Amino acid sequence: NEERIARMKKAAIERYQLKEKIGEGAFSTVYRAFDSKSKSEVAVKLIKKYEMDSAQQAAVLKEVTIMRQLDHPNIVKLIDFIETDQHYYIVQELVGGSEIFTEIVKYVYFSEDLSRHVIIQVAEALSYLHNVAGVVHRDLKPENIFYNPITVIPSKTRKFRKSDDPYHKPDEGEFILNLGGGGIGTIKLGDFGLSKQIRSGNSLKTPCGTIGYTAPEIVKDMKYSKEVDMWALGCVLYILLCGFPPFFDDKVEVLTRKVADGHFEFLSPWWDEISDEAKHCVSKLLTVNPLERYTIDDFFNDPWIAEFLEKSKKAQ
Ligand code: ADP
Ligand code: MG
Repeated sequence: NEERIARMKKAAIERYQLKEKIGEGAFSTVYRAFDSKSKSEVAVKLIKKYEMDSAQQAAVLKEVTIMRQLDHPNIVKLIDFIETDQHYYIVQELVGGSEIFTEIVKYVYFSEDLSRHVIIQVAEALSYLHNVAGVVHRDLKPENIFYNPITVIPSKTRKFRKSDDPYHKPDEGEFILNLGGGGIGTIKLGDFGLSKQIRSGNSLKTPCGTIGYTAPEIVKDMKYSKEVDMWALGCVLYILLCGFPPFFDDKVEVLTRKVADGHFEFLSPWWDEISDEAKHCVSKLLTVNPLERYTIDDFFNDPWIAEFLEKSKKAQ
């Protein structure tokens, strides 16, 4: 019987032909792969089980358990999961353009319209996680937000500010044209390695996430819940609009203090041309008190977001 299982596993692994490496984490390497059964490309997150302790192994199984329950157009889909003696294979839908992070690096920062195009889709994913699945992601950041590229045809639709022209200010007529995004199509939220299922009213205590994106209640070691994703959403939105994070310091203690106090600024000159409405939305997300912070529903009712959604509906 064991032999039969071993044979089945071998066949399952042979189903996926690993191609080039497309990403890397602490214990994992992500490959583009060819699924010989569905005859399509997939992403395989290959995890070194042999380097992990039992708690870390349990975390992988939890990541998969959560992913298995999720079904949303803005969330990376789980296709298959295989466990061998040495490895875990998490087979996922391949997202063509990789991380939004690399795009920010390339273009320095995004126009307000492109930022909204991205952040709204991330928020759709969070809305599903928070309101439907009862899941807190806990590691929302540009490195874990993937996108599918779209072909940008006329140069007129390229309204995002390019690095060679960082002060390009879009004129009025450019707005609606940009709804498709500058080469960025569908956004997919990935990496559920730190995500957690929450029962209603339940809260979490384990400090985790990535410093710089963690909410004040986490760095202060208080109980926390879904609100931490809203804080991280604020960090991501801030970065999209200006190209650098709201909280940054080389010294961890200083950084931790800044986050705990919610001390950030709309630095000049980078924020000079960004609208007050956009700043208002960022401020409501980066609110220290989790009870006063925007929930996901508040976010969709924010004027800067709601008016954009209204405009894009009309444009279609
Ligand atoms: P880790 O938990 O190690 O951070 P991730 O799931 O974030 O692992 O994957 C690491 C990197 O691999 C990502 O930041 C991304 O660049 C790439 N990657 C992961 N999953 C996919 C996918 N489904 N499609 C395309 N790229 C992916
Ligand atoms: Mg990651």
